Amino acid sequence: MAASPELTGAREAKVGDIAVRRLLPLRHRRTVGAWCFVDHYGPMSVDGVAGMQVPPHPHIGLQTVTWLLDGDVLHRDSLGTEQMIRPGQLNLMTAGHGIAHSEESPDGHDPRLHGVQLWLALPDRVRQMAPAFEHHADLPALGLDGFEVTVFAGSPAGAASPATVHSAIVGAEISARRHAQARIPLRPGHEHVIFAALGAATVDGAALTPGTLLYLGTGHESVTLAAAEGSTLFLLGGEPLGEPVLMWWNFVGRTPDDIVEAAQDWGRGLRFGKVAGPEWEPLPAPPVDAAMLKRRR
Ligand code: MN
Repeated sequence: MAASPELTGAREAKVGDIAVRRLLPLRHRRTVGAWCFVDHYGPMSVDGVAGMQVPPHPHIGLQTVTWLLDGDVLHRDSLGTEQMIRPGQLNLMTAGHGIAHSEESPDGHDPRLHGVQLWLALPDRVRQMAPAFEHHADLPALGLDGFEVTVFAGSPAGAASPATVHSAIVGAEISARRHAQARIPLRPGHEHVIFAALGAATVDGAALTPGTLLYLGTGHESVTLAAAEGSTLFLLGGEPLGEPVLMWWNFVGRTPDDIVEAAQDWGRGLRFGKVAGPEWEPLPAPPVDAAMLKRRR
């Protein structure tokens, strides 16, 4: 029998000037499937202001999943990629051994901004892989009893995302075009989280509004989702990763040495390459406390 669902609240955090709701990691739950980081920001007005301005910074050992509900963001990375992203599209950046990127509201940007920034931990067998970037403008969507389900990762309910991922996962945006109720099929071998980005919903009776995360352990065949018209939810899940990860700043490693070496390489201008585009002072890594990393591990 499946354990009862668990509701947790977001921590308030800042990414540059942008206030975010940090829903994952939790102190007692570092990963859900391979998902190891969930930030939700907006909806907010960025009319007449700089908006998102995240200077070049490095990543290792993860994939970043960028998804917008409103607005536009320009991504640049050290592979030479320059890619605008808009709602309903996926930017998937694989850090592997190391990549650097910047994210900004472009000149003449949309007055609104609303999105999620998600990370997937790469399993140990591929975490040192070469970096890569994919943009997907065309993703499978299916109707489900008044919901529109857009699949950006994995293949729930028979729709398969073209995105390259490295573990058994699911990632989908679920929007209610009217007041809607449906049974959402789940894989019992997967654990899942569901959160609302807009509006209000219930999942098997548990109330969800923005800033709240619902965790469902393995063993669920489905959940009943009910949502008010105009609500948007996210379903993320996967096979439990089964590997302890060590997350620090923008790095996902396994040992304190992984983190210390990545921070040193970034400080020395090694490994990560240079982000294409105009000159922009890169973000320095915070000081590494190796003893703290050993304790956390
Ligand atoms: Mn980043």
